[in-house]
Amino acid sequence: MNILLVEDEPKLHDFVRKGLQQQGYQVQGAASGSEALELAAVHTFDLILLDIMLPGQTGFEVLENLKKFNVKTPVIILSALSTTENVIAGLDKGAVDYIKKPFDFGELLARIRAVTRKGATKTYIQYKIDHVRLDLIARKVWVAEQEVSLTKREFHLLETLMSDANRVISKTELAERVWEVHFDMGSNVIEVHISQLRKKLGIEEFIQTRVGIGYVIEGHLVCS
Ligand code: CA
Repeated sequence: MNILLVEDEPKLHDFVRKGLQQQGYQVQGAASGSEALELAAVHTFDLILLDIMLPGQTGFEVLENLKKFNVKTPVIILSALSTTENVIAGLDKGAVDYIKKPFDFGELLARIRAVTRKGATKTYIQYKIDHVRLDLIARKVWVAEQEVSLTKREFHLLETLMSDANRVISKTELAERVWEVHFDMGSNVIEVHISQLRKKLGIEEFIQTRVGIGYVIEGHLVCS
């Protein structure tokens, strides 16, 4: 996932960028509204994190200009402007979420996941990476056009990893998203399921282990 981070305060910019990169997100930075618009016109981002008080044009103006340029990338505002009027203005101008500074980094990550999940379930019915194809409606999986029978849990695990291809997903996050538990359920449960899933897919290196961090599927994700 590719994120455009628009923040003019260098320390905060660095902090957010490093935190997101540690989670496996790709991050491009801009320190002003015009820089952000130039980048958004040339590159495709999955998400824009936008400050309001910026040199040159404000974040509100950036939102209006993005609309003019027909950029449909979801925008989350990160701002110290915390009045209800500002939040309403931001959402009315097209932002999908508004996070007040100072914010908790874990909350920012959860909101990013929520926004990107919404996009994924709304738009796509199929994921494909290399020879692995996953049908989100029929809940079926094929490897090189051979159907593979998975349990519900294995399917959900594969769906989660494929939807976030190229991002390392921690065991804690997998526990939350696949098992819907918010406590450490012991790494063994996840390891056993990953190992079963690998066996069934028959491609050992498709799901990669990042020791001490989590799991990742690398490759070009085609959503259709
Ligand atoms: Ca600022």
